Amino acid sequence: MYPPQFEYIPANSLDDVLKLLDERGEEAKILAGGQSLIPLMKLRIARPALVVDINRVKGLNYMNMEDGSLKIGALVRIAQLERTKFPSQYDILRAASRQVADPQVRNMGTVGGNAAHGDPGNDLPAVFISLKSKYVVKSKRGTREIPAKDFYKGPFTTELRPDEVLVEVNVPHWDGYSGGTYLKFERRTGDYAIAAVAVQLTVDDDNRVTRAGVAFTNAGPTPLPAEEIEESIIDKRGLENLLTSAKNAFDKMKVNPVSDLRGPDWYKRDVMRVLLLRGIKTVYERLVR
Ligand SMILES: Cc1cc2nc3c(=O)[nH]c(=O)nc-3n(C[C@H](O)[C@H](O)[C@H](O)COP(=O)(O)OP(=O)(O)OC[C@H]3O[C@@H](n4cnc5c(N)ncnc54)[C@H](O)[C@@H]3O)c2cc1C
Repeated sequence: MYPPQFEYIPANSLDDVLKLLDERGEEAKILAGGQSLIPLMKLRIARPALVVDINRVKGLNYMNMEDGSLKIGALVRIAQLERTKFPSQYDILRAASRQVADPQVRNMGTVGGNAAHGDPGNDLPAVFISLKSKYVVKSKRGTREIPAKDFYKGPFTTELRPDEVLVEVNVPHWDGYSGGTYLKFERRTGDYAIAAVAVQLTVDDDNRVTRAGVAFTNAGPTPLPAEEIEESIIDKRGLENLLTSAKNAFDKMKVNPVSDLRGPDWYKRDVMRVLLLRGIKTVYERLVR
């Protein structure tokens, strides 16, 4: 199916984007990689009157380590994340990005688009939540920094206002003995997750967990931050202790995956539990000395 008629404006600068969104944000959609927007427009689920293409905007495609944090510009392609050799503290970014869709989608799809779209099946939001990242969003009114864990409000509904554009994902510093993984269970390679988990840990010289980030993909209407699980493993040492605490915390957590073609809710819950424990084991065993 063809999309209904729309106006297309390729923006040349961020100022142009902000001006257009200021004037016509309610009827506009930003076009980044187009890997979600175009299919939705062709299905006529999204019907923007104006499409603002940001692909020519300079200064949105960068990855910098600055002031101890990793800054990722919104126009970085998922394939760039996959190819970048990050310091080992950020190895979760490669682990996750290589599991997003297929190479064609990753070549076009952007970090900003994956984060901003609000699809609970998108893989990167859980990763950014587990890394305690903030999203930097801009409008003509100014700049806001929104913690990734507070950004998602419902399926395809986020904190982003119609006049705002996501310009950067800001990943804070994780010190030396830190690392993470992203485990995704899918029906076939390249599919959205049945369920997936992002686990990021820091351990001290005594092999005690001092910092933890855990979040799930496709576990309900939004990416799901799991602060209860994080708290349950902080200050713990020893794999068995960690796994017991995490399992107990998970079983008490409110987790409502949706029953659909990928499986019934009880099955997805079981998959989440297995992935969680496997993820903690993988990361902890890599970090302990
Ligand atoms: C066949 C297929 C399989 C897929 N499988 C997966 C998968 O397994 N895992 C996964 O994570 N994803 C998957 N995707 C989705 C794909 O990864 C996303 O479409 C992509 O990451 C979104 O980025 P984009 O740059 O293409 O965004 P676009 O499609 O251009 O935009 C998506 C939405 O975000 C908005 N937007 C984009 N950039 C910004 C910005 N900077 N600021 C504010 N709003 C913005 C747009 O207005 C639009 O509403 C799949 C897609 C396809 C087509």
